[in-house]
Amino acid sequence: MTKRLPKKDVVIIGLGWTGSIMAHELTDEGLDVVAIERGPWRDAPTDFPPTYMQDELRYRVRHELFLRPDQLTFSFRNKIGQTALPIRSWGAFMPPNGVGGGGVHWNAETWRFLPSDFVLKTHLTQRYGASFLPEDMTIQDWGVTYDELETHYDAFEYLCGTSGTAGNLKGQIQEGGNPFEGPRSRPYPTPAQKQPWGYQLFAKAARELGYKPFPQPSGNLSQAYTNTLGLQMGPCTYCGHCEWFGCANYSKASPQTTLLPALVRKSNFTARDNSEVVRINTDRSGKHATGVTFVDTSGEEWEQPADLVILSAYSLFNVQLLLHSGIGQPYDPEKNTGVIGRNFTHQTISSVNGFFDHTKYNFNPFVASGSIGMCVDEFNGDNFDHGPHGFVGGGYVGHVQTGARPIESTLVPPGTPKWGAAWKKAVKENYLSTVKPGTGVHGSFYAYRDVYLDLDPTYKDRFDRPLMRMTIDLHDNEVKQNKFLTDKFAEIIKAMGAKAVAPSYRTAPYDMTTYQTTHLNGGAIMGTDPTTSAVNKYLQHWDVSNLFVLGASAFPQNAGYNPTGTVAALAFWAASAIRNRYLKNTGPLIHV
Ligand SMILES: Cc1cc2nc3c(=O)[nH]c(=O)nc-3n(C[C@H](O)[C@H](O)[C@H](O)COP(=O)(O)OP(=O)(O)OC[C@H]3O[C@@H](n4cnc5c(N)ncnc54)[C@H](O)[C@@H]3O)c2cc1C
Ligand code: SF4
Repeated sequence: MTKRLPKKDVVIIGLGWTGSIMAHELTDEGLDVVAIERGPWRDAPTDFPPTYMQDELRYRVRHELFLRPDQLTFSFRNKIGQTALPIRSWGAFMPPNGVGGGGVHWNAETWRFLPSDFVLKTHLTQRYGASFLPEDMTIQDWGVTYDELETHYDAFEYLCGTSGTAGNLKGQIQEGGNPFEGPRSRPYPTPAQKQPWGYQLFAKAARELGYKPFPQPSGNLSQAYTNTLGLQMGPCTYCGHCEWFGCANYSKASPQTTLLPALVRKSNFTARDNSEVVRINTDRSGKHATGVTFVDTSGEEWEQPADLVILSAYSLFNVQLLLHSGIGQPYDPEKNTGVIGRNFTHQTISSVNGFFDHTKYNFNPFVASGSIGMCVDEFNGDNFDHGPHGFVGGGYVGHVQTGARPIESTLVPPGTPKWGAAWKKAVKENYLSTVKPGTGVHGSFYAYRDVYLDLDPTYKDRFDRPLMRMTIDLHDNEVKQNKFLTDKFAEIIKAMGAKAVAPSYRTAPYDMTTYQTTHLNGGAIMGTDPTTSAVNKYLQHWDVSNLFVLGASAFPQNAGYNPTGTVAALAFWAASAIRNRYLKNTGPLIHV
C-alpha cells in the first residue's frame, strides 16, 4: 500500500545540476522543499576525498557512477517501421545516477550558446530562405533570447568560478577570447586555465591559418575561488582523470562543490536518496499536479504531495516521466501532432587524431583537465556563410584532449598491426607524441520530424511500465556538416606538424554503441505555441501550470556547444520567474 507523506511546498525530482539550483533558489524564497533522487547520496569529503583513487577500469570501463541498464533502459531503432530493441549496455551516451547527477563526472566545459541559436528558425529563414532548409527539419525558435538569459549565464559562471577569456565584453570584442560569442556583462570570474605545449601549438597553427583560437571555458578552475555562496574551491592540478570521475581536489564545479554544502545547512530543505519517482500525480482535471509517487530501494511505494512540482531528472528521464504520467499529448510523427517526445536530438561529434614524429614531439598528454583545450568558433552555428555548402548548423573544433589514461590511450597510426610486438612498439612510440582530441569536432544536431521519443509497444521496465523508445538517425544535413568540420579540423592538425592524420567522420546510421556525448536534448521543448511545444518560455508546462520541466529536454534543437551552461542558465531563469511572478499569482505565466 502506498504510504502518504506530509505535504511540502515543493517537490523536486532529481538532485543533479538543475534540481540543486532550483532547490537553492526556492529555499531562499522560504519554501519547504524536498528533493527526491533515484541514485545514492554523494558528497565531496566522503566520496571524493584527496585519497580517492581515480581508477580507469572502475569508473570509465565499468561505469561505476552511472545508471545500470538493468535498473532502467530505453529501446532504440534508427527508423520508423523498424522494431526497436532494448539497450543492454550504454554506448552512445551514459545516463547519470545519484546526487549531483551528471555534474559529478562531467568535464565542466561551460559554454554559452550563440544569440542566433535561440532564434534559429527565424535567423536561417531570413538569411537563406525557407527552401534552403530540409523539408523534414523541424527546428524552432526557443521563445527566450540570449539577452534575457545573459544575467543567468553569468549567475552560473560565478557560482562555478568558470575559468575563461572573455571574447565580447558589453559588445566590445576582446583579444584572445571567442569573438563570436554574445555580449557578456562582465569577464569570467577566473582567468583561463594555462594551456600545455600541444594546445599552444594548435593555437599557433590555427592563427597561422587565419582563425582566432581561444581557451575553452572551463569549470576546472585555474585558481582558488570563493563562489557566490561563500564556498571555496581549489586550483585544478591537471590530473587527467576528470570526465567519468569525481574530483578529489574541490577544483571541478559540481553541485557537490558549488551548491550542496550550502543547501544541506538549510532547515527548509530535505533530500531522499535511493528513491525513484515513478509518476507525477495530477488531480481529476489532469491540469493540476498534486505531487509524486516514488519507490525506495526496498520496493516500498510512497506518495509525496506538494503544491509545486519541479521535474529535473535529466532530459531523457523528464520525457519518460511525462509519458508515464500521461501529462501532455504524446507526439505522433505520422500526423505531426502532439508535443511530448517531439524534436529529440543529440550532438554530432567526430575527431581527428594526429601522429607526430616521436623524436621531436613530446606532448605529455596525461597532463590535462576535463575542459582543457584551445578552440576555434569560425564554423559554429551560422558564423560562416552556409550558402555554398548546402547544409545548416556547425560546431566548434578544438584540441580538447582531456588526458591520456592508459586503457583508452593506445592509439597507433593507420596501418599498424592490431596486436603483437609491432603493435606494442607503435603504442610505446606514439603515446607521448599523438594528439587525440576527445570531441575535436563538436557539432550541432538539428530536429527532424522522424527523430523522436515515445513508449515502446513491446518492452517493459521493472515497474511494468513500457520502456521509452528512441527513434533516431543522422540526416544528410548533419553528415555533410560533420564532413566539412572534420576536414577543417584535420587541416589545423596537419598545420601543427603531424606526419599523419586519422579523421573519423560521423556517418549514418546513428550508432548506439560508440560514445558521442551525453548531450541528449528535446522531447519536452520550450516555445511560444502549445501545439508545438510542451513548456512555455519559463519552462512551465502549458497544461499543468504548477509543473516546471528543467533541463535540455527543453531545447528545440541542439547547438554546436555543450549544453550545461544553457541548461543551468534556463534553471536560474525559470527560478526567477517562479520567485518573482508565479508565487505571487499561481497559474499560467503565459496565456495564449
Ligand atoms: C561523462 C559526461 C561528461 C559531460 N561533460 C559535459 C561538459 O563538459 N559540458 C557540458 O555542458 N555538459 C557535460 N555533460 C552533460 C551534463 O552532465 C548535463 O548536461 C547536466 O548534468 C544536466 O543537468 P540536469 O540537472 O538536467 O541532469 P543531471 O545533472 O543528470 O541530474 C538529473 C538527476 O535526476 C536523477 N533522476 C533521474 N530520474 C529520476 C527519477 N525518476 N526519480 C528521481 N531521480 C531521478 C538522476 O539520478 C540525476 O541525479 C556531461 C555528461 C557526462 C555523462
Ligand atoms: S582535472 Fe582538475 S578539476 Fe578535473 S578531476 Fe583533475 S584536479 Fe579535478
